[in-house]
Amino acid sequence: MDFRLSEEHELFRRTARDFAQKELEPRAKEFEEQHAVPPEILRQLGELGYLGLMVPEEYGGVGADTLSYTIVMEELSRACASTSTVVSVQNSLVEFPIAEFGTPEQKRKYLPKLATGEWIGAFGLTEPESGSDAAGMKTTAVRDGDFYVLNGTKRFITNAAFAQVFVVFALTDPEAGNKGVSCFLVERGTPGFTVGEEEDKMGIRATSTCELFFEDCRVPSENLLGEENRGFKVAMLTLDAGRIGIAAQAVGIAQAALDEALKYAQERVAFGKPLAAFQAIQFKLAEMKTKVEAARLLTYQAAWKKDAGEDYILESSLAKLYAAEIASEVADAAVQIHGGYGYIRDYKVERLYRDARITRIYEGTSEIQKLIIARQLLGRG
Ligand SMILES: Cc1cc2nc3c(=O)[nH]c(=O)nc-3n(C[C@H](O)[C@H](O)[C@H](O)COP(=O)(O)OP(=O)(O)OC[C@H]3O[C@@H](n4cnc5c(N)ncnc54)[C@H](O)[C@@H]3O)c2cc1C
Repeated sequence: MDFRLSEEHELFRRTARDFAQKELEPRAKEFEEQHAVPPEILRQLGELGYLGLMVPEEYGGVGADTLSYTIVMEELSRACASTSTVVSVQNSLVEFPIAEFGTPEQKRKYLPKLATGEWIGAFGLTEPESGSDAAGMKTTAVRDGDFYVLNGTKRFITNAAFAQVFVVFALTDPEAGNKGVSCFLVERGTPGFTVGEEEDKMGIRATSTCELFFEDCRVPSENLLGEENRGFKVAMLTLDAGRIGIAAQAVGIAQAALDEALKYAQERVAFGKPLAAFQAIQFKLAEMKTKVEAARLLTYQAAWKKDAGEDYILESSLAKLYAAEIASEVADAAVQIHGGYGYIRDYKVERLYRDARITRIYEGTSEIQKLIIARQLLGRG
């Protein structure tokens, strides 16, 4: 077994790190204060191919593998988790289902625009009364000639303020539970579709999170993504793959927290010695490093299995659960090593601590990952 990355993967890492250190790191605090990743950054992400990493080249994407995407996500997240959230939604939650389930016309229409960043996408599954229990959604889609008429509300939708296309789930057979869900591509500006106010969040504060309202919104029937009543499968397969990106985001945040703690522990003097001279601090750093490396290996394993065409449901949940949990633990330890300064906005660890928290919640909470893992173990997946 060879744990070394290929030259191509190393190149992805160097390029992403270079971009993140030059363009994101110095401005991440400013993005947060302005509650937005600025348009010029989105343009640069598009130019670098990061908004269409796994989209096939024939549709304008990079055609890279999942491991490359994982590495890019990790490096961007070390500098700015808000920026990596935009990248993750675009690649994992929007382009993936279109590439997997789209008709040739849908792929030709949407993928080139998304892959270059001309359009940003969003994914609308969660509703005010259903999150983990996604099949409990209330939004309906009723067929009317060549249209589906959508009614309902989606909540907590990332990228909503500026996305041009939304992957939206609705019930086409409300009696049939998860076998009555269908998936639609809804374009911004479709009559009857409006985007609500921004949520005021704890972390990833430069991302946009809004409600979506559908009031007799007529969506052309050619915008059905996948088969009617098979949309729940689209949602679940999309999230299975998407979890690898969130695991990578958590690894990146945790690595950044470790980097900051290591630096600070060697600079800060207490009782006449650098903090790093105290064994209690050394042990903390050693535990942080062990957790980050273990999370990274689990994440790369999940990406590798997906790239190898093997079943990866278990591995993506293992990676997402562990990486998300340790990102919070490592960020918390980094704040502790910074003492009072860790609680102050000027110090990066304060943002990392807040940003880490979301990875345990979105794309399936940690509890939901445990349910998936247990089902896989017990043969009930
Ligand atoms: C910043 C942000 C961005 C988001 N972006 C998107 C997006 O782009 N698109 C989208 O569709 N959604 C998005 N979400 C929604 C997110 O995926 C949900 O919040 C998440 O899935 C949890 O759903 P919920 O909030 O309804 O919590 P609930 O499902 O109500 O869960 C509440 C608590 O109960 C636990 N729980 C629930 N069921 C069980 C069970 N069976 N066993 C054990 N514990 C259980 C949960 O783990 C959680 O701890 C986003 C959320 C946030 C905060």
